[in-house]
Amino acid sequence: MNNPDCLFCKIVAGDINADVVYETEQLLAFRDINPQAPTHVLIIPRRHVATINDIAAAEAEDEIGRLYVAAAHIAAEEGIADDGYRVVMNCNEAAGQTVFHLHLHLLGGRALGWPPG
Ligand code: AMP
Ligand code: ZN
Repeated sequence: MNNPDCLFCKIVAGDINADVVYETEQLLAFRDINPQAPTHVLIIPRRHVATINDIAAAEAEDEIGRLYVAAAHIAAEEGIADDGYRVVMNCNEAAGQTVFHLHLHLLGGRALGWPPG
């Protein structure tokens, strides 16, 4: 396993169940356990990269780009692509990051306020 202490690595490994909605060789997408909108999907690289600050050192630019392509694909499948949706990636504590394995939040299905809190 990538990182035995990491919750999302355990989901990638199949040791913890998740409601997977989409997957490729490089990434996995599953429903957030505590959804903040009618559609709330987390899209993660299979490889363990802790935060945005680590993307360059991990040379993970390609995987991160693919997270966005997957977000658009899933948004279309969820029927929210035309109305609109938000993708968010929190970095470290002040932004509210609680799981230190990169993940893109895909949120939609309701009007989303701006600016975020
Ligand atoms: P963040 O606060 O940006 O690090 O987001 C972490 C997200 O992971 C939160 O929205 C949690 O609800 C979600 N989460 C935590 N544990 C699980 C799990 N086992 N399955 C799915 N989502 C989870
Ligand atoms: Zn991990």
